[in-house]
Amino acid sequence: MTFRELEDLYHQPLFDLISQSRAVHLQYWRGEEVQRCSLLSIKTGGCSEDCAYCAQSAHYSTGVQREELLSLEDVMTAAHRARSQGATRFCMGAAWRGVRDGSEKFERVLQIVREVSQLDMEVCVTLGEIGAVEARKLKAAGVTAYNHNIDTSPEFYPEIVSTHTFQDRLDTIAAVQESGMSVCCGGIIGMGESQTDRLRMLEVLSNFDPPPESVPINCLMAMPGTPLADQPARRWPINRRSMFLSWFVWSQSHESCCRKREFVWRRGAPGFHAKARHSASLPVRIRFFTATNF
Ligand code: SF4
Repeated sequence: MTFRELEDLYHQPLFDLISQSRAVHLQYWRGEEVQRCSLLSIKTGGCSEDCAYCAQSAHYSTGVQREELLSLEDVMTAAHRARSQGATRFCMGAAWRGVRDGSEKFERVLQIVREVSQLDMEVCVTLGEIGAVEARKLKAAGVTAYNHNIDTSPEFYPEIVSTHTFQDRLDTIAAVQESGMSVCCGGIIGMGESQTDRLRMLEVLSNFDPPPESVPINCLMAMPGTPLADQPARRWPINRRSMFLSWFVWSQSHESCCRKREFVWRRGAPGFHAKARHSASLPVRIRFFTATNF
């Protein structure tokens, strides 16, 4: 979609936007299907990047301690537990800039993915920056979906991150799409960006080809110690208006909600309780995440 089209949709009376987004959603998701996903941080803290919203960055004093990559045994214990609790997707995230083919840590990650993928669950990873070779190997190892958010608009991105570029994000997403893995890609609102930035972010997301399988639009949870610690919480109506616009644009994508982490209408906001209310009145296909160690 073009910026102008998004802008016209966004500025409609709210209830017109709600009606339209509901009508479009009903074309694709008539039931109230929920997928249960479990989220595990396989490497926490001490990240080299300086994302201004992130408590895991080594650039800020947030109290989050740097940990090593979890052992295969620890990951498998968590994955077995998740499956026994009904999860059908197991997601693993690592706090580092990215992984490179030939490195020991990439080989360990591939081994973890191979083992987890034997458990009859979809496997999702978020490992930061990767290229075409890494993407192909992750796909071959059993990864179903790769999460890599663009965070905000291209114009506002340098205000949020200086250690890598918006184009770096797009390059990783292109490599993931070429490999055949699904892309989970969204952003964060409430970081001090303008409304134009929010629409520009949606414009970029809406022009991915193919579209992302999941589009998590998160609301900032201001983390103490980060540069965004004092950002005021974004509430009604901006979050809801953006949410309904997103439902309109990505009617065939999944929506995600997350417990224990500021994620879609969270990595923040009124949390999964709010999501549950939305799901009762606006049928969508939802992924419900539980995070075991976030
Ligand atoms: S790359 Fe990921 S883990 Fe590292 S600071 Fe940015 S958001 Fe946090």
